[in-house]
Amino acid sequence: MHERRGGKPVWTADFGVRIHQVMNESERFRVAPGSRVKLSDVDPAFKGHHPDHAAAAAELQHYTERLRALQELLYADGRHSLLICLQAMDTGGKDGVINHVLGAMNPQGCRVAHFRRPSPEEAAHDFLWRAHRDAPARGEVVIFNRSHYEDVLVVRVHELIDKTVWMERYARINEFERNLADDGVAILKFYLHISSEEQLARFKARLEDPSKHWKISVSDYAERKFWPQYQRAYEDALSRCSTGHAPWYVIPGNHKWFRNLAIARIVVERLEAMNLKYPAPAADLAEIRREYHSAAQR
Ligand code: AMP
Ligand code: MG
Repeated sequence: MHERRGGKPVWTADFGVRIHQVMNESERFRVAPGSRVKLSDVDPAFKGHHPDHAAAAAELQHYTERLRALQELLYADGRHSLLICLQAMDTGGKDGVINHVLGAMNPQGCRVAHFRRPSPEEAAHDFLWRAHRDAPARGEVVIFNRSHYEDVLVVRVHELIDKTVWMERYARINEFERNLADDGVAILKFYLHISSEEQLARFKARLEDPSKHWKISVSDYAERKFWPQYQRAYEDALSRCSTGHAPWYVIPGNHKWFRNLAIARIVVERLEAMNLKYPAPAADLAEIRREYHSAAQR
């Protein structure tokens, strides 16, 4: 399931105009199981068929409205749940996706779990403990802002643990996600792909906007030195842990509106594929109509 897969990048070859016409948008960003991701082959400034935000606005609104309706249906149906994992380099847009796309959902039935440096209690458990603790209940949508993948990313780049330890985690992650999927959890994982130039531009924009100053930290700049190591760690995680039941998507993220549109569409399509239904009424509606709403009662 998790062997190293050598050879050429299979999936990234699809990233061309020619294929655009024949593949649907969601498919083209999905990391095919068994393929090898090479991030430098993916254009972070890709924006599909819309020239700009204004042109995409109507479509984005359509998908966010669908998203809200489908999430309410998921909640009412109560048999399944949805887990969305967001991973990105700093400024990659995790907060933006949560705010714009997933903010369209009804807060009743939605939750965000933020994965920070593990607390003493979290660190005292196995690395998947906190992910399992925060996994969605039936009917619920949970967004992981960062996720259990930090345990094969930051810990690897900063050599916080031995290679022998993180190497075996890919298989454990796949097993964990299989376990959730077998229990009715739909899983979507998004890597928001920006260029390092775009990150620097976003850092600079923060400097120029007093309302964003609180977000600035020296360590964010220091992390830029590790960009290539992070990209390699991401490539391994995306390649080894994209499965049929828990696919990874690489979403071009330089254009925020395109990123939001692509994610909204993929989430909508996943929910639509779940064949959600309102539960049958528990009460005898004919009886209730007769008893409480007939002309004689008024
Ligand atoms: P932020 O999401 O920007 O608030 O930052 C959270 C920080 O916690 C990031 O620097 C992550 O890399 C870090 N972090 C998350 N999970 C882990 C982990 N398992 N081990 C070490 N650091 C982590
Ligand atoms: Mg940060």
